[in-house]
Amino acid sequence: MTKYIFVTGGVTSSLGKGIISASLAKLLQARGYRVTIQKFDPYINIDPGTLNPYEHGECYVTEDGAETDLDLGHYERFLNTPTSKANNITTGRIYQNVINREREGAFLGKTVQVVPHITDEIKRNMRILGETGDYDIVITEIGGTVGDIESLPFVEAVRQFKWEAGPGNALVIHLTLIPFLAAAGELKTKPTQHSVKMLLEYGIQPDILVCRTEHHINMDIRKKIALFCNVNINAVVESMDASTIYDVPLLMLKEKLDQTVLTKLKLSHKNEPNLDNWKDFLGRLKNPTSEVRIGLVGKYVELPDAYKSIIESFIHAGAKNECKVKVQYIPSEQLTPENAVEKLRGLHGVLVAPGFGERGFEGKIEAIRYVRENNIPFFGICLGMQCSVVEFGRNVLGLKGASSTEMHPDTPHPVIDMMEDQKNVVNKGGTMRLGSYPCDLKKGSKAALAYGKTHITERHRHRFEFNNQYLKDYEAAGLTPSGINPENGLVEVVELKNHPFFVGAQFHPELKSTVANPHPLFINFVAASLAYARKN
Ligand code: GLN
Repeated sequence: MTKYIFVTGGVTSSLGKGIISASLAKLLQARGYRVTIQKFDPYINIDPGTLNPYEHGECYVTEDGAETDLDLGHYERFLNTPTSKANNITTGRIYQNVINREREGAFLGKTVQVVPHITDEIKRNMRILGETGDYDIVITEIGGTVGDIESLPFVEAVRQFKWEAGPGNALVIHLTLIPFLAAAGELKTKPTQHSVKMLLEYGIQPDILVCRTEHHINMDIRKKIALFCNVNINAVVESMDASTIYDVPLLMLKEKLDQTVLTKLKLSHKNEPNLDNWKDFLGRLKNPTSEVRIGLVGKYVELPDAYKSIIESFIHAGAKNECKVKVQYIPSEQLTPENAVEKLRGLHGVLVAPGFGERGFEGKIEAIRYVRENNIPFFGICLGMQCSVVEFGRNVLGLKGASSTEMHPDTPHPVIDMMEDQKNVVNKGGTMRLGSYPCDLKKGSKAALAYGKTHITERHRHRFEFNNQYLKDYEAAGLTPSGINPENGLVEVVELKNHPFFVGAQFHPELKSTVANPHPLFINFVAASLAYARKN
């Protein structure tokens, strides 16, 4: 029988529920349990696909093409197992399902209400992954903070679920903050007490409290929290700020969070968790033997969460190369032909980021011209790849005014163009080319060498594509289409001949990089940047 763990948050947002959930899952997985994590978000968007990255950070795409919350990226990076559209549910999706059923007549004669119809639909979704039989334990992270109006139906669903599941089958972990008052020189437990009181008002007694803190919480504080919040002393778990999120599983191991959970769920402790590979990764991460500076050229650089998966991919690939990757954010809007040299000076590699819309487009093209002409390693992802095609068209093939029809619908040379089947799409949500598609790599290409194979699948999120009418010209001039979708002939990878590393990918490799499997293109890009750094 599947056991269920719910993770709620109190006091403030941004306590890192996603990282705690992923870390706990990692420990349980390392003991031999089959674990998955799902996130329930209280906002009304059907999915985060239509949200500006400034609002909600990066949109993470799953194998099956769901546009999801960036926490799913953490789940995959920690667990090295893919998630799916069932792993991220929003209020919008819940209501949409209920309203669709109402229109079908499923509730005829009944008043459709938050309780029981919305809460029933939430509980049904909480069970979906557990009922596949693929998991021993399902962790459900409830987005938002307890007490928010939006979260209420989810909290009520958790209460009902826990009650129905019975003791030992479901538990609630509540994440709270223990602030340090510098003036008083003290850690304060009152916000935690209040937060637990609020949960109690909703009928939920948390089983475990994970306390985020900047200072160690001593036994007295633990006792106080335990007494006032009705939890065992070993269920008060300290979660200190860590220098890297990848330390958190080991911190939770030290606090015995996994053992407390297993005991409460009446599950065997099985083996000691096997974290050898994880520790090996951490060892490399913390003891780099070299350093590279890589420029990340994009338009959302003010908010690093917008490029979460790219940043994490650099961490994985850096550790693999025993090299510290210093990522320098470069706002593409500020790049001009005049200042590109100055802004990009001293970089050992440049990644041009994915993105949408015209802002910063010309700056990205300038960055690419600079690195192409100066033999600096280049990696373009999605829009970054499309920009490399535009740049090459304009400056090498002499296609004056070449562009993507996304930015310039009337360009004389639409080297990047919308696919036919996208042209009549009017809805914005969930209508891009999304999810996993196959790609054949040319033997001997840089991409094939990186992957060590010629048939791959990678995830997508875009509407525009390389325009194959120009394919022959590009190939003849040296920008090789080294990755092609075998089913429809679309160009997936381009790379430049006679350049140390110039690779553009139409797909998003950053979505598949994990601690256990750093992405090969990132590994080789970092290696090329390192080689460049050593020579220059
Ligand atoms: N805007 C481009 C497209 O839709 C690229 C998208 C992206 O970088 N994810 O094709």
